[in-house]
Amino acid sequence: MTDKHTLFSRNSQNRPILSIIIPVYNEREVLPLTLERLNTVIAQLGICTELLFIDDGSRDGSADYLSAQVARKGAIRIIRLSRNFGKEAALTAGLDHASGEAVVILDADLQDPPELIPEMVEQWRKGSDVVLMQRRSRAGESWFKRTTAHLFYRLLQHLSQSQIPVDSGDFRLMSRRAVEALQQLPERNRFMKGLFAWIGMPTVVLKYDRDPRAAGTSKWDYLGLLRLALEGITSFSISPLRWAVGIGIIAALIGGTFGLWIAFKAFMLGDPVHGYPSLISVITFLGGIQLIALGIVGEYVGKTYIESKQRPNYLIRDITRAPEITNINPRSRVKEEIHAQAS
Ligand code: UDP
Ligand code: MG
Repeated sequence: MTDKHTLFSRNSQNRPILSIIIPVYNEREVLPLTLERLNTVIAQLGICTELLFIDDGSRDGSADYLSAQVARKGAIRIIRLSRNFGKEAALTAGLDHASGEAVVILDADLQDPPELIPEMVEQWRKGSDVVLMQRRSRAGESWFKRTTAHLFYRLLQHLSQSQIPVDSGDFRLMSRRAVEALQQLPERNRFMKGLFAWIGMPTVVLKYDRDPRAAGTSKWDYLGLLRLALEGITSFSISPLRWAVGIGIIAALIGGTFGLWIAFKAFMLGDPVHGYPSLISVITFLGGIQLIALGIVGEYVGKTYIESKQRPNYLIRDITRAPEITNINPRSRVKEEIHAQAS
């Protein structure tokens, strides 16, 4: 753990202690409230804090609204991505550009209450590298979403080698050390919950009640969530490949035994071989299994293909920052185009 002295001396070089990363995709409706609640919390905290909004290709004027706030409020930075890359990429962009000694990830829709941040900072000061926020309840979400989310987290935990904690989303605090560890993971398939878990580090879990969305609508439909679930499983486990082998062995055993039984009947009992329907059922059964197995293999081959292209996870359109924040994070890999807006 970084000792507290360096923390504050770094602050004297105009480097924020806390960075709050907020991915934004079409959240214009909720942003005024988000900013208001964040400002109250930051005022209470009394440590040097920067707000880092990642505009993930919003089309509803979210970025313009935020840019207008920069001139008025100071310690806000807005990183506008060149298009919608998805929340996982937006978070990666945020982590690459955050300069704080601790980093908090927060949803823009206020489902993760900002009022919990002081408690998270407290835990970090006590020496935890990761402060994980675990949902005690999820208000305002349908029974179906809650149940499927519950099952998904359990299945994922069962399948993957690293312990992916159940019922926790992206809402968390990470120390600089944890962020740097995360940046060493080069993969393009960024299933953040899994990556977060993979790095390990001293972690403390806090429970909280997840609020309903303050305004606007969820960006996830069920197909999107299903895709994320498959992504999560195939990025963090190769057990489906083993299932394919297992199912193949079982099917082959059943087929073989059945064949022997037919041969025995034909030769020993003189029972003529008739069985067009059973033949068809065996063929379709095996054909189905083969296609599923091929699909599973294909999923992993596809992943390898995407990784091999080595494309960046996101592209930045521009960065808006308040003129007084002069520190540019040397870790930023992307060349920044700075629009210092006159206040
Ligand atoms: N988000 C994003 N890019 C996307 C989708 C979502 O940056 O492509 C952001 C969104 O603005 C919000 C957070 O990710 O701040 C969580 O999204 P949402 O509330 O729609 O998801 P849910 O809470 O329903 O899982
Ligand atoms: Mg939400």
